[in-house]
Amino acid sequence: MSRLLARTSRLAGIVAWLVGSLGIVLAADAERVRSWPKWQQDRVSLDRRFVCEEFQVHYTLTGPHALPAADRLDDDRDGVPDKIQNIALQLVTARRCYVELLGLRHPKESPRYKGRVKSIDVNVWAFQSKNGMAGDAIVNYHRPSDPPEGLEVLTIDLSVKLPPRNLSPAHELFHMFQNGYTLFKNAWYYEGTARWSEDLLREGAGQAGSLPATSAELEGLFNLSYDASRFWQALARATDPKGKIRVPQDLRSARYRGSEKPIVEDDVFHGAPLLKALLEELDNTDDLVSRENGLNPLDWPESRQRSPENNRAIWNTVINVSRRFASQSLELKRMLDALGRDVGNPKPAAEQPLRTER
Ligand SMILES: [Zn+2]
Repeated sequence: MSRLLARTSRLAGIVAWLVGSLGIVLAADAERVRSWPKWQQDRVSLDRRFVCEEFQVHYTLTGPHALPAADRLDDDRDGVPDKIQNIALQLVTARRCYVELLGLRHPKESPRYKGRVKSIDVNVWAFQSKNGMAGDAIVNYHRPSDPPEGLEVLTIDLSVKLPPRNLSPAHELFHMFQNGYTLFKNAWYYEGTARWSEDLLREGAGQAGSLPATSAELEGLFNLSYDASRFWQALARATDPKGKIRVPQDLRSARYRGSEKPIVEDDVFHGAPLLKALLEELDNTDDLVSRENGLNPLDWPESRQRSPENNRAIWNTVINVSRRFASQSLELKRMLDALGRDVGNPKPAAEQPLRTER
């Protein structure tokens, strides 16, 4: 055998050994992934990633969770479908609205998540028939793109069929801000205020209902979910009839790819100071409830987070915060007079679903 041939065969041997070892590693990896629960496997199967500031958007072009062919348009030819970039654009814009316009604390700065959560993972996949879902737990998915020890993240799930301009990404992100402040997840507060927050991006203001004036009406409010936004809108108008926010020029000019219409459609939003004060006060209220009930102030069981037991504490917080805003509203005065004292705890609301859903 010539020296060249010997060297070549030695090289081939090394390559074969490397490929073999890699095969063993990949097989071991595949074995490890197969042992994971389905919720983890499904999300880890999203093999493409678009990183935009604190958001990592995961998606795939193959298999059951593949982005539909019609949604793969990549006008700027940067290798990332415009649909995925638009989701990231909405998330960054919404975060700026929450932090810069409402003055809210980013969840990564909250005692619950600070120092642990590195990013917000956004999974775009076919996960039930919902548009979006947000989790409050810190999760380590151990994705192939993660460092060896994995990455602690918060999770937003979005439907792979999400229509253009749909506000689910912003809505789910608002839940993360709520989760950074308080453990309460009673739907009339949790979904009601999240729907109200969508108005930051949407043109005009959402429909307002009336403020409760009797215990029966209050009990009715406690049984609502998204539709409680009409109560919040009414309270927002009573405390802030003008309803204008100052949107900086660069935020005002942000646009989705392939669209002339701005992401922040106008500067109409009622009740920005009320919303901030409410979240900050709920942050204090849940500490009191934790102390009284011997609960971990940073982590309650899911059932406790949604328990009707919380309604009175949340309501008392609403009353205390509303009193801070000098208001000409007769309707608000009537509500404070009628329901501003200890209102007792009405009978339990219907059972709530276990996770946050839109
Ligand atoms: Zn929601």
